[in-house]
Amino acid sequence: MVRPNSFLSDEQIKTLKDKLLADQELIRNKHSNKDQYCMDKSELSDPVDEASINTQTSQEIRFRNRENFYEKKIIKTLAKITKGDYGLCNECDAEISFERLVARPTAELCISCKEEAEHAENNNAFKRRSKSLGKTIAEIGKR
Ligand SMILES: [Zn+2]
Repeated sequence: MVRPNSFLSDEQIKTLKDKLLADQELIRNKHSNKDQYCMDKSELSDPVDEASINTQTSQEIRFRNRENFYEKKIIKTLAKITKGDYGLCNECDAEISFERLVARPTAELCISCKEEAEHAENNNAFKRRSKSLGKTIAEIGKR
């Protein structure tokens, strides 16, 4: 095994790796339980129930997509640990603090790059909101 040349100690790496593996296990277990649950529901034939089941199912799919996304991130992060470039910021190559990694083992950005990204995201959300608001006002004016 290649020894990780990370700034993190072996013990710290192990803590984070265990956390990632536990999260991965949790997602996988949840998925197999849900498959069982979906199968049980498909036995119902009442159309009213089916409608509500469809709503529920689409919510489950959305939720599952998020989990799949997170699981992919976990796999990617585990690969990084193996390669030994785990814990470095994708943007500026700075070392992400161990405290931050414990809170969020799949973190790919250091705290300052993350804050910058979130700030940009908030600005965009604000722009979108005011744009749709402007459209609503324009439509009211037409009537
Ligand atoms: Zn950074």
